[in-house]
Amino acid sequence: MSTEEKRLSTFKKWPYGSDTSINKEKMAAAGFYYIGNKKEPDLVRCFVCLKELDGWEVEDDPWEEHKNHASYCQFIHLNKAECEITFEEMHDLEMYRQINMATKVLTKKIKEFEKQAANTREAPPPPPSSPPSSSKKPPAPSLPSRPPAPPPSLKPPTPAPPFQDLLAPPSSF
Ligand SMILES: [Zn+2]
Repeated sequence: MSTEEKRLSTFKKWPYGSDTSINKEKMAAAGFYYIGNKKEPDLVRCFVCLKELDGWEVEDDPWEEHKNHASYCQFIHLNKAECEITFEEMHDLEMYRQINMATKVLTKKIKEFEKQAANTREAPPPPPSSPPSSSKKPPAPSLPSRPPAPPPSLKPPTPAPPFQDLLAPPSSF
């Protein structure tokens, strides 16, 4: 989705025509590609910050909407038409896109974990095992040091070579 052409090709079911200010060309130029469905027929996502927006009005300006809802977006910060973006800048945008994707996945995982943790906390606490005693007890004596470990079991000695081999005459003769 890093090229405007690729983003533009996703707007096959875009519900707004070319006579509106939210036509597919302007959406693609503003960094969006189409991910709509029956429930959200005008849902788009930025290819860098991954911000998803829907509920478009025909008089909206895609770039301004992107800027208002995701001012942190690196594509917005760059503020360049695609033909002006250098190879290095495109490389940086791709790096940011990957960072944003990883952050999105991690944020989702953290939320799932927090939900699970909250459910665990809501469970009734286990009954107390022993009431805390108010009487002061002498400190427990330190445990005796452990006896030294037994020596590792010895392996049986490797058998000596057969006697005949030792008596055999050297083969070089
Ligand atoms: Zn963005």
